[in-house]
Amino acid sequence: MGITNGFVGTIGNTPLIRINSFSDETGCEILGKAEFLNPGGSVKDRAALFIIEAAEQAGLLKPGGTVVEGTAGNTGIGLAHICNAKGYNCLIVIPDTQSQEKIDLLRTLGAEVRTVPAVPYSNPENYVRVSGRLAAELDNAIWANQFDNLANREAHYATTGPEIWAQTDGKVDAWVAATGTGGTYAGTAMFLKEKNPEIRCVVADPMGSGIYSYVKTGAVSSEGSSITEGIGNSRITANMADAPTDDAVQVTDPQALKVVYQLLRQDGLFMGGSVGINVGAAVKLARQLGPGHTIVTVLCDGGARYQSRLFNADWLASKGLEMPEG
Ligand code: PMP
Repeated sequence: MGITNGFVGTIGNTPLIRINSFSDETGCEILGKAEFLNPGGSVKDRAALFIIEAAEQAGLLKPGGTVVEGTAGNTGIGLAHICNAKGYNCLIVIPDTQSQEKIDLLRTLGAEVRTVPAVPYSNPENYVRVSGRLAAELDNAIWANQFDNLANREAHYATTGPEIWAQTDGKVDAWVAATGTGGTYAGTAMFLKEKNPEIRCVVADPMGSGIYSYVKTGAVSSEGSSITEGIGNSRITANMADAPTDDAVQVTDPQALKVVYQLLRQDGLFMGGSVGINVGAAVKLARQLGPGHTIVTVLCDGGARYQSRLFNADWLASKGLEMPEG
């Protein structure tokens, strides 16, 4: 590995980690793209960079300008780092249900943070809609609009997909990932399908999200809820709209928690909740496909962002969940 050029030049080119415990259990190669090793700590650094650079290239963002976004946290963290590195201001609107660690970190990074009540997208006070209005009111400001801005999935079509293809020598049987905006899933799926249409592309979905039913029946509907953050949706975003999808897998919170704790205790990987959904879905897919297959998923972010929640027995109990024994 050579020298990288600043924060921006350090985004991407993450390792692809064989998850030993689950690979050995299933007889499949279960591989996790180590996005928690991006310099901002999550998969969203890639989208943040492509969104900002697309705005720069279009002449929409000029020196001293402001990047505005509604985000569950990780996109905001990526944007705030890049804004520091490139000399922009950053204004983040975040639902007040998100972890305090992420909100504190955004403020430490210098972003202006506005917390708003978590209400559905159909409500004008929804965090995404508030962020769009704020951006429109400010001079020399852009709305990152990660849900419907296709620069998001382009990041994964241009980088994550090709990296996975190169790292596996093209030997991939399946790609599975949960979706928030859908950028990671869709961009990577589009690239991999172009390389080999036989690669099975599967959406992982937490309870309370409508994407599973959308893939299965064509209608967005959901049941239950999830403590995972940054994933699940009640609408089909522009980034997801025409994403190649063969199937969907649903993973419950108790299943995801079991996975997160096994990753921590047996694999030495300290991961966030969406990783529990992703790797849990990869394991379900491994059982469907049978031994001998290579299944790639994403290790979206690390566990430190959720110390007070996923790794706190009292908080889990307040949600009716148990810390897995081990
Ligand atoms: N996991 C976490 C922890 C996230 O913050 C996000 C982004 N919202 C995702 C997964 C999903 O990524 P995407 O927006 O590309 O679908």
